[in-house]
Amino acid sequence: DRAAVLVTGGAGYIGSHCCKALAEAGYRPVCFDNFSTGHRRFVKWGPMITGDVRDPRQLQAVFQSYDFSAVMHFAASSSVGESVTDPQKYYANNVGGTLALLSAMRGAGSGRLVFSSTGAVYGNAGSESAPRFPVNPYGKSKLMIEEILSDYRQAYDLNSVCFRYFNASGADACGAIGECRDPETHLIPRAMMALQGEIPDFGIFGDDYDTPDGTAVRDYIHVTDLVSAHVQAVNMLMGGMRGVYNLGTGVGYSVSEVLSAIFAEAGSKMPRVYYPRRPGDPSVLIADSSVARMHLGFNPIHSNLGTIIRTAWNWHTKGAFEQLRGGRRSTVSIS
Ligand code: UDP
Repeated sequence: DRAAVLVTGGAGYIGSHCCKALAEAGYRPVCFDNFSTGHRRFVKWGPMITGDVRDPRQLQAVFQSYDFSAVMHFAASSSVGESVTDPQKYYANNVGGTLALLSAMRGAGSGRLVFSSTGAVYGNAGSESAPRFPVNPYGKSKLMIEEILSDYRQAYDLNSVCFRYFNASGADACGAIGECRDPETHLIPRAMMALQGEIPDFGIFGDDYDTPDGTAVRDYIHVTDLVSAHVQAVNMLMGGMRGVYNLGTGVGYSVSEVLSAIFAEAGSKMPRVYYPRRPGDPSVLIADSSVARMHLGFNPIHSNLGTIIRTAWNWHTKGAFEQLRGGRRSTVSIS
């Protein structure tokens, strides 16, 4: 019998990639998702349960149906800009949802959690011990959860691994799952949708940052590399290990560099339009992932910008993406 792993938010971008990686590693991923942003088509590697992490009764029912070896918690709201305009949503879904999940885990005697945190817990990133001054409610909500998990480790022996992701990007080579939100806020999918005529008002947020070309710099990490660290974390938790790890590459690219790579891959470009800075955006976020490399054998082999853009473009130009968007894509062709 394969060991079951509960994956909250398993129908989302990172969660679905994680379910695939878990299945490939011999686990049975059980997806628990409220489908507020996730996709039923993305649930292909194990059972699908429709439920909300804020609902204690739904959680309790799931823990009664399965004996989980570990829990992976992805279900959360994740748009930096929206967190600034609607902080309550972020504290209720992220902090409130996690508290309910932890309570259900304790009730079921489930003691291993992999938590999806973010590089946004740093104002400006460094190593794991760098000061944490999140500059937006999204980052603050994730930092609060990290603190809660640290207390739960001490008090209740509930063991956890927190991953501070930098910019998750790219798509699995199978082409069946990828990045697709409505509304989409992230740079790479938005630029690709704009190239395909789906977004009329795409532009660069800020060209006056203190960076070499004036646009903001991020550390882009391929989702396939991210999820292999998660599978490794489950193995570690089984062995009683825990910790907080950055997951990034240590290399940053500016918004302008990312666009150039997309235009090169697509064989097409658009005029560059500039908007003011987006509220809550830090200028540079780059990870020092040496601790993950050392403890987890983390080695982001898929995360060069070319591979990220090529796999993302493959997903965006494949039928699977089109079906998901309900055929809404316009007929603008790329020359
Ligand atoms: N960005 C942009 N135009 C867009 C979307 C994003 O210029 O349409 C910029 C954004 O301001 C940030 C970078 O791209 O500097 C990465 O943003 P994204 O939302 O992808 O990830 P985040 O770093 O906010 O998690």
